[in-house]
Amino acid sequence: MIQTKYTGRKRIAMMASRNPKSEAVYEQLFKGLKEAGFILTSKQPDIVISIGGDGMLLSAFHKYEHLLNTVRFVGVHTGHLGFYTDYRDYDVEELIENLKMDTGAKISYPVLRVILQLKNGEKLVYRALNEATLKRFSKTMVADVMINQVHFEQFRGDGLSISTPTGSTAYNKSLGGAVLHPTIEAMQLAEIASLNNRVYRTLGSSVVVPKKDKIAILPKHNDRYSLSVDNKTYVFDNIEAVGFQIDQAKIHFLATPKHTSFWERVKDAFIGDVES
Ligand code: NAP
Ligand code: MN
Repeated sequence: MIQTKYTGRKRIAMMASRNPKSEAVYEQLFKGLKEAGFILTSKQPDIVISIGGDGMLLSAFHKYEHLLNTVRFVGVHTGHLGFYTDYRDYDVEELIENLKMDTGAKISYPVLRVILQLKNGEKLVYRALNEATLKRFSKTMVADVMINQVHFEQFRGDGLSISTPTGSTAYNKSLGGAVLHPTIEAMQLAEIASLNNRVYRTLGSSVVVPKKDKIAILPKHNDRYSLSVDNKTYVFDNIEAVGFQIDQAKIHFLATPKHTSFWERVKDAFIGDVES
């Protein structure tokens, strides 16, 4: 019998978190994919496999964000089922089979573009898969919040978070924000402990703004602020404004039969099987 090998010669990069379970999955995948004829390389990959949790996929996203238009991601979770991960550690054989049959199908979700304007005229641009958060280091953050050209409110509190639809189940959810289906192209502004009394007033609830809209936060005081983008935190003393919008580019995931329904994931992660 003639064994036909996969001839597409797709380039696959793998990233694993540092624990025995992830490392075992890495070894198993490496061996299986090599045997199947894939090129295993961290340079210019077509597919990136992240092994670990959702946090690991965030790291993989940032490592390859410059290739966002051409790369597809797939996540293997070594714990419970994650939001960015379709496979579990015991599904490795199935993942290899699905990769062999892969025809390039993808499922795409919005990412956030963060534009940081510094007082010295410098402009820095970041991309977030989950969210970006602005906080003042000491004392209450006072900032003007603009939505498009409208001065929406003056915020007082710990900070503000702007999340993507897929990030809505992360920090945003802890802040009381709504869970958004990832096919909704929008971003969500959520307050972090806003001050609301007879003097200070903010909306108090989170807002969901459409793709074409832009949000800007202008901190009032010349002080030290932290800007967190997913799992990284940057510190600045000279922020003029931070702008947020849905990016032109999207994140692409490998669309496989294993891609479970978003609502199933939300239920699995936050509700579970409650006895009635
Ligand atoms: P971490 O503290 O290790 O991760 C925080 C938790 O969030 C982990 O359990 C992670 O899942 C989960 N998670 C990540 N993305 C998610 C998503 N889109 N939906 C649902 N759960 C998600 O930190 P990290 O691994 O560096 O991740 C950074 C993220 O932590 C940030 O993007 C932010 O969303 C989140 N965070 C949350 C809070 C909060 O809820 N109070 C505060 C700060 C940051 P895994 O275990 O599968 O990795
Ligand atoms: Mn984590």
